[in-house]
Amino acid sequence: MKITDIRATTVTVPIEAPLRHANGCHWGRFVRTIVEVETDEGLIGLGEMGGGGESAEAAFRALKSYLVGHDPARLEELRFLIANPTASLYNNRALMLAAIEFACLDILGQKWGVSVSEILGGRLRERVPFASYLFFRYANPHDGKGEVRTIEQLVESAQTLKERYGFTSHKLKGGVFPPKYELECYRALAEALEGDRFRFDPNVVWATETAIWFGNEIRKIRNDYLEDPVFGLTGMRHVREKVRMPLATNTVVVNFEQLAANVLNRAVDVVLLDTTFWGGIRPCVKAAGVCETFQLDVAVHSSGELGIQLATMLHLGAVIPNLSFAADAHYHHLTDDIIEGGKLKYEQGAIAVPSGPGLGVKLDHDKVGAYRDLYRRLGSYAYDRDPLRPGWTPMIPNDRWADPMDARVPKIPY
Ligand SMILES: [Mg+2]
Repeated sequence: MKITDIRATTVTVPIEAPLRHANGCHWGRFVRTIVEVETDEGLIGLGEMGGGGESAEAAFRALKSYLVGHDPARLEELRFLIANPTASLYNNRALMLAAIEFACLDILGQKWGVSVSEILGGRLRERVPFASYLFFRYANPHDGKGEVRTIEQLVESAQTLKERYGFTSHKLKGGVFPPKYELECYRALAEALEGDRFRFDPNVVWATETAIWFGNEIRKIRNDYLEDPVFGLTGMRHVREKVRMPLATNTVVVNFEQLAANVLNRAVDVVLLDTTFWGGIRPCVKAAGVCETFQLDVAVHSSGELGIQLATMLHLGAVIPNLSFAADAHYHHLTDDIIEGGKLKYEQGAIAVPSGPGLGVKLDHDKVGAYRDLYRRLGSYAYDRDPLRPGWTPMIPNDRWADPMDARVPKIPY
């Protein structure tokens, strides 16, 4: 079998309300590039890439000269073909490699009549549990709804999500407001949803001593872990020495070199595997194996997925024995999806692993067309800018926090 064509279509799908994070904001939508890899046997595999609110259509088009004629079954070679470590010093293609790997696995599953999780060793679970992913949000500029800024709004949003989807673990994305205010928010959540589990992620923007203070303040909460309180393995190691709580990362252990460094001198207890950051589902499975050997826990990271990427996260979650915590997904913030049948459903806080051949999801071409047109109308957005703080540059460590009393609504196209 040979690859004959690659198509990339950038789409934008609205989210309920703009999501605020330590480095900026998701401006009311996710921008994702859908990849279709076609073969001489008529099979089409699906991939997805996002990040930065930008289109990646041209970058995928440029890969055609590498991939046309390549056998999609030669997955191990693909890594050197697209993301050779030396060439990557000049043109980092790990994210694109991931999207192509998803598509090739999808093709192979369709050809062999098995799901991707069967190719990867077989399922250990049929459903993958998820945490509620709680963000501070601006109100939706269109209808004025969905703001999460006050403690009351945050608790209400968590309770609504729990009721609607059955989550029993809750992640709060912080690093937006002063740490003392976010501590109050986190404590209020833990109080309101007693018996559930919690995790906090300020996206590395705290100073080391702030992280140690916060970590010690939340010790009595039933924490899964404290995620990326500071940047860098050395900083994480220092926090870990002073705070008796598991530390997790999706930031400083995102490749095998960093994983080796963490095995040799532990700084992080839980490695959050991202099928895009690691360059595909298979590298994540390999990394989970290394983690199992060295008694490190793993969970599944979310970088803002539509249904194709979500399927990769589900197949990954299905096959790794040491999935010790609920996975993360931005998915419940989306208002729609580009796959047939609409959004995959949560039941009791979990999503069933798709059962069809390959990734088990198909494109709804009408929706792809509609959200491609929406992307063309609205364009990209600056993931690392806040629409209401034009003069603000997010620093690490940060000391320029947003004001929790500021109830303005950004004027952004919706
Ligand atoms: Mg994180």
